[in-house]
Amino acid sequence: MAAAKNYETRLFINNEFVDAKSGQTFSVYDPADDSLVTDKVQIAGEADVDAAVDAAHAAYKGAWGAMTGAARGACLMKFAELVEQKAAEVAPLETVSMGVPVAIGGMLMPMVSAIFKYYAGWADKISGEAPPTDDGTYKIMRYEPFGVCAGIGAWNATLLYLAAKAAPALAAGNTFVFKASELAPLAVLAVAPLIKEAGFPPGTINIINGDGKTGALLASHMKIGMISFTGSVPTGRKIQDAANKSNMKKVTLELGGKSPSVIFDDADIENALAQTAQSVIMLTGQACTAASRTYVQEGIADKFIAALKDRFAGMSAAIGDPKQPTTMFGPLASKGQFNRVMAMIESGKKEATLLTGGTRKGDTGNYVEPTIFLNPAKDAQIYKEEIFGPVTAVKTFKTEEEAIEMANDTQYGLAACVYTSSVSRALRVSSKLEAGTVTVNQAFMPSIYTAFGGYKQSGSGREMGGHGVLEYLQMKSVIINMAV
Ligand code: NAD
Repeated sequence: MAAAKNYETRLFINNEFVDAKSGQTFSVYDPADDSLVTDKVQIAGEADVDAAVDAAHAAYKGAWGAMTGAARGACLMKFAELVEQKAAEVAPLETVSMGVPVAIGGMLMPMVSAIFKYYAGWADKISGEAPPTDDGTYKIMRYEPFGVCAGIGAWNATLLYLAAKAAPALAAGNTFVFKASELAPLAVLAVAPLIKEAGFPPGTINIINGDGKTGALLASHMKIGMISFTGSVPTGRKIQDAANKSNMKKVTLELGGKSPSVIFDDADIENALAQTAQSVIMLTGQACTAASRTYVQEGIADKFIAALKDRFAGMSAAIGDPKQPTTMFGPLASKGQFNRVMAMIESGKKEATLLTGGTRKGDTGNYVEPTIFLNPAKDAQIYKEEIFGPVTAVKTFKTEEEAIEMANDTQYGLAACVYTSSVSRALRVSSKLEAGTVTVNQAFMPSIYTAFGGYKQSGSGREMGGHGVLEYLQMKSVIINMAV
């Protein structure tokens, strides 16, 4: 563990690190061994949140607002390049705070830069529409920014959330205030100095720390025009409520999931096994898109389930200290998350047949054995609720219709995977699955180019691609009477 003094723990407002006026701090613990990483992360209280929003507002009305799209794009591009250069230094901060293996963290960093680069390209390409003039008026429909936007992230991929929210918001001409999760605030603070270095005027991007109380101050802030949230369904509801009760700011919600994998008899079994296993255990199951329900057709069920069990048992060997470069799967992100997942696993043992796993791995840190439950009851907690751990529930099905019905029988609708060698079945089933993203013959992988977001209670709004930037724009119609 590095000394606490090595970590930046202040707030980043107006292109400078400042001490929080609140005088309060919180601690970050290393989930690999529960040791203290730092107890000095400064919490933004009301006055600090106001200072960050005021800085963002001044930048919007001032230097940032006056810049051309091309100049905004140049700042985003420069920031992407600087993040790329600092990646090796920044990625380990996610490892000590939320346990992502350095090997995986190293793969995520290029995506962070890639998202900033992608939206840099959008900054000077946002044009409007000119509807017909045959009624004697000339009409312009313009996309305009909201002003100050805010982002709140979950802990499992903090820098990706900064990128997926701040980059399109800035490309659209807004300014931004970002709050990371209290479990993983260090990496985003480490990239904050690059904001100034990239040439963003003071106040354009502000980074604040804190838990739900700080988040709630953002959600109810009267000077924030739009807020984008990634996290759980219950918190998403609170943010939507706070927005409604304050200034009715626009809200986009990227929430939880209970995503199905549907494996048909005609699938390439080896591929389906590898992809399903990866999808369940990637980030130790702490991915909103994790395939936590697995449906396999009866013709291949015995073979598939036995092989999946072997794969899960095999993956156990790749779990270990996330700081080691060979480790692929680390601990759960916190003691709280560990206790929550273990409690759900214990309840699962009463609700379904435990096929493999079901225990803690080792006796220190927050490690859990990859776990498979077979045939849970329809109302079993492990089958209905998001676990956010390395656990899947397997059921079998006879027909395509039955598989679709089971896959859709959930409050969530974030992602779904279909495994089949039939193109027509892939098209048919993907059109019927109630999910924001359906992948065929592969596990979910984020793509910069395709809109990502939830059906049903997995959220509202979209990130990535062109739709991602539209969320940060509002439409203004200008109607000019040509007869005068
Ligand atoms: P969480 O909802 O507990 O917290 C998320 C963030 O919200 C944190 O920054 C927290 O400080 C903040 N927060 C808490 N209470 C708040 C309030 N009242 N007002 C404003 N902000 C508040 O979620 P988590 O435990 O950090 O993350 C796990 C959840 O996130 C899972 O449900 C997972 O599926 C979901 N998630 C979704 C996506 C997606 O893109 N759809 C991605 C990753 C994680």
